[in-house]
Amino acid sequence: MRFFPYELQLRHAFNLAKFSRTTTPDVQVEISFDGVTGYGEASMPPYLGESVESVTRFLSSLNLEQFTDPFRIEEMHDYMDSVAEGNNAAKAAVDIALHDLTGKIMGQPWHRIWGLDPALAPVTSFTIGIDKPDVVRKKVAEAAPYKLLKVKMGLDNDRELVETILQERPGVPLCVDANQGWTDREKALDMCHWLKERGCLFVEQPMAKENLDDAAWLTERAPLPIIADEAVKRLVDVERLKGAYSGINIKLMKSGGMHEAYQMAVLARALGMKVMVGCMTETSCAVSAAAQLAPLTQYADLDGNLLIANDRFRGMQIVDGKITLDPALPGIGVALL
Ligand code: MG
Repeated sequence: MRFFPYELQLRHAFNLAKFSRTTTPDVQVEISFDGVTGYGEASMPPYLGESVESVTRFLSSLNLEQFTDPFRIEEMHDYMDSVAEGNNAAKAAVDIALHDLTGKIMGQPWHRIWGLDPALAPVTSFTIGIDKPDVVRKKVAEAAPYKLLKVKMGLDNDRELVETILQERPGVPLCVDANQGWTDREKALDMCHWLKERGCLFVEQPMAKENLDDAAWLTERAPLPIIADEAVKRLVDVERLKGAYSGINIKLMKSGGMHEAYQMAVLARALGMKVMVGCMTETSCAVSAAAQLAPLTQYADLDGNLLIANDRFRGMQIVDGKITLDPALPGIGVALL
């Protein structure tokens, strides 16, 4: 295994309810076996608490050479969890590289290994961050190829932001991510009704992740699905969210990679919950790995590679707003640029 830091340069400053930034720290990982190399990646948006230092420390502490078979991913996850708790992005980097490696050895992309039809992948949303109206108009113009716009909310000008977007693209389907920014459940419910009337399909993480009672209150009354994001990381979190949320947003940097992400999607479906797949700002490496799971989901938010200016990979493509996987690319479906 080799790894190195790779700072992602964002095309626009990324403004969320709780912070703003122009770069994202990232570590690129390569795992080779018998002359075949798999690629992986850890992306560390600051709010998740990992950093280049913590990922480097965790990866340096691993001895993967004790495993003689790269297909024993379950065992390697048990090992990584025994080395340290948390470190989910670092674990995801190893997991993604192992999936890429094993998929390449089998000569098959993971959606095929999982038995999924790539034609069933949903349209992906394109994120419009919180910004001044003239910047929002510019971003909406750039988002012209996308069929679903994701609006970041949680500040005082939420309604103005939606109206600006709808002036630019009347009738475009929207989804909303409040990133825990709403504090009053009655106001959140009013906002859900207002959004539903304006073509919003679902609302992601309206209130604080710890507050399951208010989430359940809102989910019971809201006219659209309420999806957990910050409230869910790994498989162990899914079952206790049933009833509190309509569905979960799975991200590889939270789940520790594709192995558990797949299990989360299967469990959420069995519990009657909706499944969304999302990403951080990432290169096409981690985004394409997440896209392998997309046919199992109702909603996808896989635009992280489009938000950066220095991608290293060619991979998952958006064609007519839809996630499109190249069946000729095995593993996670990427090639170095
Ligand atoms: Mg979110």
